[in-house]
Amino acid sequence: ENGTASALWSEYQTGWVEQQQDQLYLVVELTQAIRHRRFEFVVQPKVDLSSMAIHSGEVLLRWHHPEKGSIGPDVFIPLAERVGLIFKLTQVVLNLTFEWVALHRAALKSCSLAINISARDLLQPAFAQDTLALCQKYQLEPARFILEITETTALSDKAMAIENADLLRAAGFSLSIDDFGAGYSSMQNIHRLAPQEIKIDRQFVRELTINSTHETLCRSLITLSQDLHTCATAEGIETAEQLALLKQWGCHSGQGYYLYRPLAPDDFLTLLRTQQNGH
Ligand code: C2E
Ligand code: CA
Ligand code: CA
Ligand code: CA
Repeated sequence: ENGTASALWSEYQTGWVEQQQDQLYLVVELTQAIRHRRFEFVVQPKVDLSSMAIHSGEVLLRWHHPEKGSIGPDVFIPLAERVGLIFKLTQVVLNLTFEWVALHRAALKSCSLAINISARDLLQPAFAQDTLALCQKYQLEPARFILEITETTALSDKAMAIENADLLRAAGFSLSIDDFGAGYSSMQNIHRLAPQEIKIDRQFVRELTINSTHETLCRSLITLSQDLHTCATAEGIETAEQLALLKQWGCHSGQGYYLYRPLAPDDFLTLLRTQQNGH
């Protein structure tokens, strides 16, 4: 009996050690990937729900691992947040996106690009200045970009975050609160960041038609966005039924597999072209 317990314990320990080693190895690989910019991105259209036109595209990062293939951000972003690699990763995304937009500035003229940043980025004293400088380097107007802020629970130094947010907004960037309603993003934080957009988290949209609590929550988030004079974007729309309800409740904008899947950058440009040609 006792033997079994200690065998289990040692197995548990071995498992734990292996897990730690895997994580450590992944951190080393991620560091190298950042150094060699081994990342690509896809773009998912964001749609105006009254006209159904694409008004922007969200840049979603993909890591191309030499052996493991494409690794999704759900694996490496939380890890990067934990070990402090998120700042470098944000720089990678900003550079990749600005470079691409500069190359296709005419085709992207009437479409803004949404970039995911971590709330932790806003705690870096020079974040707003550096981002502006980078934008100027590529000769791009900040008004082309929406910064989607995730992990707002991490906002420890509120004054610093607000200072950066104010600078970015004054320069023309739009700010968006990502995954709204999920976690524990305090209303006060959100109010003081004065975002132009809030994104209703996928989990509420998913269970819209089967869970009445989520229905109520979704509707109140849309009302709240109207009171705050911001745009509400629902993410993760997967069915016609979800889309119809969100439209009916006055949600401005939407995103999800039912509308469009994330696309390779070139395919996104092609899609925009067909839309501009009146299809
Ligand atoms: P997010 O910002 O909430 O991004 C939306 C995620 O939902 C994307 O997953 C997208 O592919 C997925 N999605 C979109 N429509 C649907 C749908 O209808 N159904 C379902 N089931 N999923 C849908 P992805 O690309 O795996 O990204 C996951 C998360 O990783 C993002 O969530 C974001 O928080 C983070 N992330 C992605 N790219 C970056 C980045 O460049 N920087 C940072 N800091 N975070 C990023
Ligand atoms: Ca996002
Ligand atoms: Ca989200
Ligand atoms: Ca998310």
